[in-house]
Amino acid sequence: MAEKILLIIHETPDGDTLAAATVLSKVLKKMGKSPAMVCKDLIPKPFLFLPEVSEIHHDLLFGDYDLLAVIDCGDIKRTGFADRLKKFSKTKSKTIINIDHHPKNDLHKIAHLNLVDYEASSTSEIVYELCQKMNADLDKNLATALLTGIYTDTGGFKHSNTSDKTLRIAGELLRSGGKIKTITENISLNKTVPALKLWGLALKRMHRHPKLGIVSSVITREDLTNCGATDDDLAGVVNLINTVPDAKAAILFHETQDKKIRASLRTESDSVDVSRLANIFGGGGHKRAAGFTIDGYLKTTDNVWQIVLN
Ligand code: 5GP
Ligand code: MN
Repeated sequence: MAEKILLIIHETPDGDTLAAATVLSKVLKKMGKSPAMVCKDLIPKPFLFLPEVSEIHHDLLFGDYDLLAVIDCGDIKRTGFADRLKKFSKTKSKTIINIDHHPKNDLHKIAHLNLVDYEASSTSEIVYELCQKMNADLDKNLATALLTGIYTDTGGFKHSNTSDKTLRIAGELLRSGGKIKTITENISLNKTVPALKLWGLALKRMHRHPKLGIVSSVITREDLTNCGATDDDLAGVVNLINTVPDAKAAILFHETQDKKIRASLRTESDSVDVSRLANIFGGGGHKRAAGFTIDGYLKTTDNVWQIVLN
């Protein structure tokens, strides 16, 4: 088995990619390996309680490793290191493993092994089963971490990707000492005044398209500054917007630090697949949750918001 292992966490990391990677890292260490983790972007504050996150690098040379495990990435672009990954895939005696629950994508073409389950609620659910197969001992911190990945990707067990298997695994993680309270305290029940002001702004600006039935809202960099909020405070806004009962889909557009617009898409409708819309704009995701990023900024005239492409 490979000795030099690199775990790749996707850009704009969420609870699932972070939990799955950090738990794998810890388990591999217990097996005597010395894995490294890399993520292009900074780790959002709510996830800093996860084990090993302080050991995540933001830039690494891939040539130093003989096995890459790509975790929860959906597609090559989302690794944040597309060129390095493609180069690595062409190098002899190097191996790529794709561990994911996203629909089939370009990663399948370069991976030597695809540990992919579209039915899994989260990559953390897949990693749990992998840990079982490897007879890995999950202590209470690792159990809490995997539970975090499952919790965040199921929207706190509210989405339809929550299967009986998901709940059985969640139960087993609780039995291993996993703590729901640690997760809610860090992630869903810790809204600061600036964060709630920002949420208020996003709610006030909600618009429902009369024909398409899509509800949407926008948040600019200026809004973040005015509220004293950070990018992390936006997590969850789109899910709240998505609670409008008969909406076809919900979209939150927000300006990013690197002068782009990030769109987060959600739907509760069985007849809508938001990943198809995200695909058109170079993004992707799942049927009910997807996203994409475009070059541009947000502009308002007479209370009408526009996306201006760069
Ligand atoms: P979020 O709106 O929370 O950022 O993303 C929702 C889901 O959409 C993610 O869990 C991920 O599966 C998917 N997603 C978001 N952005 C992208 C993207 O740029 N590319 C791909 N392939 N998937 C994305
Ligand atoms: Mn995921």
